[in-house]
Formats: sequence, C-alpha cells, structure tokens
Amino acid sequence: MSQYPDTAVAAGPGDPRALRALTAVALDALADGAAARGGALPAGGPEAVTARTRNLLTPILPAQGVGAHDALYDTVRATAQGAADPGEAHCVAHLHCPPLAVAAAADLAASALNPSMDSWDQAPAAAVVEEEVTAALATLMYPAEKRPDALITSGGTESNLVALLLARERARAATDGRGTLHVLCGENAHHSVHRAAWILGLPAPRHIPCPGGRMDPAALDTALRDLADTTGRADRALVVATAGTTDEGLIDPLPAIALTAQRHGAELHVDAAYGGPLLFSDELAEALRGIEHAVSVTFDLHKMGWQPVAAGVLAVPDAELLHALSLRADYLNADDDTEAGLPDLLGRSLRTSRRPDALKIAVTLRALGREGLGRVVEHCVRTARRLGDAVDAHPALRRRPGPVGISTVLFRPVAADRLPAEEGDELVAGIRRQLLTEGLAVLGRATAEDHDGTRRLWLKATLLHPQTVAADLDALLKLVAERAELSPTADVVTLPAPQARLESSAL
Ligand SMILES: *Cc1c(COP(=O)(O)O)cnc(C)c1O
Repeated sequence: MSQYPDTAVAAGPGDPRALRALTAVALDALADGAAARGGALPAGGPEAVTARTRNLLTPILPAQGVGAHDALYDTVRATAQGAADPGEAHCVAHLHCPPLAVAAAADLAASALNPSMDSWDQAPAAAVVEEEVTAALATLMYPAEKRPDALITSGGTESNLVALLLARERARAATDGRGTLHVLCGENAHHSVHRAAWILGLPAPRHIPCPGGRMDPAALDTALRDLADTTGRADRALVVATAGTTDEGLIDPLPAIALTAQRHGAELHVDAAYGGPLLFSDELAEALRGIEHAVSVTFDLHKMGWQPVAAGVLAVPDAELLHALSLRADYLNADDDTEAGLPDLLGRSLRTSRRPDALKIAVTLRALGREGLGRVVEHCVRTARRLGDAVDAHPALRRRPGPVGISTVLFRPVAADRLPAEEGDELVAGIRRQLLTEGLAVLGRATAEDHDGTRRLWLKATLLHPQTVAADLDALLKLVAERAELSPTADVVTLPAPQARLESSAL
C-alpha cells in the first residue's frame, strides 16, 4: 500500500489489480448511468442536465478527496446518465459513431501503457504499431504507389491543417518563398479548411459553387482560370474536394476535379474524413475513384471507422511529401541517436506528446480485417438507403430531392412546406429541439437546396451504427411526424399540397 492513497499506477511490473478493480467500477457506472438515462440522451434539456450533473459532482476539487472508487463511480455514472449515446439507435445527429468494444478496450490498454509518440524511447513497440497501421492505411488510399505514407492526427481538422501547411511549404519551396498558396474549395467544404487557411496566414479560400451539393468541375475550371489571370505568376493553387460532405454525405466528382486541377497545374487535396472508409469495401470503393490523384487525403476512423475519438489520418502518395514536418529537438531525436539507429518520430506530427491512437486502430484492423470493415460500411450505406425509402413512402415526411448521401438522410415534415419559408424552417428546427428536450432522439440539422433551388432546413440522420437496421428507425420517423402534426404552427397556413416528390436515386 502506498503512503499516498489512491495513487496505484495503471502500468508497471506488478499485477494490474488496481486497474482491473477500477475498470469494473467504471463498467458498473456506465451501465447504471445508461439505465437511469433510458434513451438516446437525457430528458429535460441543458438546464436539467446541467443542474443534475453539477449536483452530483460538486465540488470537483474538494479539500480532501472522496477516494478513487467513489470519484470514479459517481463521475462516470453522472456523465453516462447525461450522455448523448451513439450506441442508441435514435442518436444519429452527427458523424459521431458508437465505438467498437474491441477498440475501446484497446484504448484502455493505450491509456495504461501511455506511450508518447514523440520519441522512440517512450514508445519502442507502439512506434512499430503506428508504422504498420499508417503504411496499411496509406496503401489503401494509394495502392499503386511505391512509398505511400500517412500520419495519425487528432482528426479531420488537424489533417486538413497539415495538408494545407504542406501545400504552402511546397508552394514556397517552388517559388523561393515568393509565391502565395491559393485554396479553392467547394461551398460544401468543411469549416476546418477555412480555419486552416486562416491559421496559416493564407488568403481566404475561394468558393466553388456546388449545385445539388457537389462541386461543379466547370465552375472550378472558371475559378482556376480567373485565379491565373488575377494573381502573380509565382502563385500556386490547391483545390480541396470533399468525399463525403458533413451535411449530406455527398462525394464531389473526383475524376473530373482531378483532371481540371491538373490542367491548370493546381494540386488536389481530398477531404475524405467521412467517405474514406468506403475503400474498405470492394463494392463501394468505386465511389472514391479519382482519389488516387490527390497529393494528400484526410480521413477519420472515429467516424465511419468505429473508433473512440481521436483517430484521424492524413495520407500522402510518397513519404517524401511529409519531409517539411521534420524537426530536431536534442532531447527527443539528437542526430547521434538517430545515426545510431533510434527511429525519429518527431516529424510525424505537429504535436509533441501524443497518444498512441494507432493501437486501437491496429486492433480493429486485425480483428475485423478489410472485408469485415467493408461489410460494416456497406451495412451503414444500406441502412441509409432503406431509411430514405421509408421516408419516401411516409405520407407526412419528404426527403431532400437527389441521392441519399453515403449514410446520411435529409428529410422534413410536409407540414413545414405548408408554411411560409421561414416558419417552415422554424418548425423543422423546433421538432429537433423538442425531441432533444424530451430525451427521445438526437437528430441533426442541415441547410440544403430543395428541388426549386431554395435552401431549406432539413432534419439529418447520419447512420453509423453497425447493428441498427432501418426498421429500428421507423419509430424515429413516427416521432417526427407526430411532433409535426401536433405543432401549434403546423396548420396555421393551409396551402395546396406540396409538389410531387422528385425521384430518389442511389449513391
Ligand atoms: C468531421 C469532418 C471534418 C473534421 O474532422 P474532425 O475529426 O472533427 O476534426 C473535416 N472534414 C469533413 C468533411 C468532416 O466531415
């Protein structure tokens, strides 16, 4: 027994008795919290959740500790009771996946071992695990390349930042520092692309129109021509396309975009944070054709890869493309250490101390294999299509015209169409908040173009659960339809019935 209470360590040579016992406490607290919640999220909205959680956890820094057991049980139980749980069928708002049990268990081991990925002497085997994982994932993206490579990142935001940083450094190197990098991205691009340009001191990205939610290659062609006409000869352009938009799961036409970029001497980065894992499936990989032309690819395994956050990846076709990140710090990778054969990890991230996120990814890749992962991806895509069909068949609901995204379905009650535009959108937003407050469902929201070109507000269901089937979501559609009919504003204005639905089509 230590002279300091509750300071048993998770790792070390002894029997991991403390961790085993506390893990059991945490699991009990998770189960009890979920039972107390009884659904996708806690009822009552922010006020009720905040009051209850504060009440259970105050004071957070007592003068004398309450002890490991009670602190762990109470805090985990309160957090679980107040969770929006992506393991529940009706929790479908975001690219927020239920992590696989096997990945969460691997993450526990990662926490216990605590290798830090900034130097070999903190992570001798974990460094090998990361190398194998990044090589395998880079090869998935770039099967024809000799030396593809990838970095593990904290997610799509960091991957996009590093992609723009590397592009900026290439532009500078190619022009002796005289040229500026101009980023062109779709109106549908993730906000992290704009933030990355802002952080890096680049001009604000130029927006390419996205009729129907996808980048228009002809508009890109025009924009690249305008750019060449109005900027210096030393300037360079980076086109950022999206494979799996956050709002709709749509994939930009990558082959046409790649060709257009190439014609203008521009580079292409593909943000496949959502869609990248389609490559695990032989049947669906075709949807990403053209991605191999990208100079870098962002993808996340904490979205359609069932990992606990964080599990981001940035892949490049050649390891040399990562060279700009290399860095010396004598205490982490002294030249003589590196010459003596100690691997240099520092240049593989913008971060210094870094969790071994590759461990849970390695366990998952080995456990399911490419085919197993591909089947789960196919399941999510299929579930979304069936949900789309169920919406199409529902008399009180209507789907956003056009194809169902990767695993994302946008829909709204037809009652909203009977109202003036703004009130219709308010009805949609109100239903989402009502279901949140009732603790019945976590639906997302997205503004997207309707059949008449008007941008309207839609409810969004993002399907990432390996076990949820479309029938589990019938109840969710029913809840939405009921709330719409009950809404006080729903029958204020009675206009002719909404126009006939446009035909649906597939991914
Ligand atoms: C989620 C997402 C991101 C951001 O990724 P994080 O992992 O949340 O940082 C970037 N791009 C797209 C298209 C996304 O869907």
